[in-house]
Amino acid sequence: MLHIKGRVLVGPDAGGLAEDIRDELWVVDGRITYERPVAARDVRTIEGWVLPGLVDAHCHVGLDTHGAVDDSTSEKQALTEREAGALLLRDAGSPADTRWIDDREDLPRIIRAGRHIARTKRYIRNYAHEIEPEELVAYVAREARRGDGWVKLVGDWIDREVGDLAACWPRAEAEAAIAEAHRLGARVTAHCFAEETLAPLVEAGIDCVEHATGLTEETIPLFAERGVAIVPTLVNIATFPDLAKGGEKKFPRWADHMRRLHERRYDTVRAAYDAGVPIYTGTDAGGSLPHGLVGLEVAELVKAGIPATAALSAATWGARAWLGRPGLTEGAPADLVVYESDPRADVRVLTAPRRVVLRGRVVG
Ligand SMILES: [Zn+2]
Repeated sequence: MLHIKGRVLVGPDAGGLAEDIRDELWVVDGRITYERPVAARDVRTIEGWVLPGLVDAHCHVGLDTHGAVDDSTSEKQALTEREAGALLLRDAGSPADTRWIDDREDLPRIIRAGRHIARTKRYIRNYAHEIEPEELVAYVAREARRGDGWVKLVGDWIDREVGDLAACWPRAEAEAAIAEAHRLGARVTAHCFAEETLAPLVEAGIDCVEHATGLTEETIPLFAERGVAIVPTLVNIATFPDLAKGGEKKFPRWADHMRRLHERRYDTVRAAYDAGVPIYTGTDAGGSLPHGLVGLEVAELVKAGIPATAALSAATWGARAWLGRPGLTEGAPADLVVYESDPRADVRVLTAPRRVVLRGRVVG
């Protein structure tokens, strides 16, 4: 039995307002309770500041730079997330079948988006189903059935003929595909870097946009009004200058575009936050970035000008509510992280958890 003492940050509520902080919680049979058990035996006590298990809402398990990886590599990726306190992962597209992870009590919980759906030759090799627009509805239906309530589109990518980022899907096909996903009970998200991609996808009914570097004064109100969430993946956007350098010679217009998106990234995220766009943390680990960076992503949101409590909520209370998973509520599975100091005072403490508790077991 676990007894966790100190400051338990149960939340702001979904509206971000009501602070709920307790002095202790108990873990009985893997679940959280705030009622002291009658017969408390073999009690292990942990002290510190407690948050719900962190959420990496955009990472990839089973994927590296070349495509699908073997199970032991996927296991290492999941364990690295766990060490960082990320106990709930939204997998934003993977060509590997990682369903076996669901049977492993010691690995983080994963909400899958199936495999990426991209336009032919318009994404990283070996990652996606590469298809044409007339096949989109069928592929979205297939991945909606394979995943855990999400489908992932590649909304824009470099068009080599244009020499710049360009949208991948005509509006009519996107709208039909998103409607089909909704009919099957799945939400749809899309990788989008460019400006022009956003409005048509939001009008087509999309639920979330990954990266969303192309948000502008025109599209931010549209996102806010429709409640379309963004997962900015700022730790990944930091690599844009290197990408631009690599592609500069062949695609100077694209390189210049990527640099401009990078330069205004913090302003973009801050403006979206100020307008009320829901924002969640994601690292994009598993493509070229390593796993376990969710704490750094929260720090990036703070750097963008988002208040610390809101940045924490993007990785904890808010993100869990958005994904339909509980936080530190009575009876919830005990997935939590304990820190040495108040993460609201300095979110950088997130990168060094004192203890990680998954399904009621101390795993780190
Ligand atoms: Zn990704």
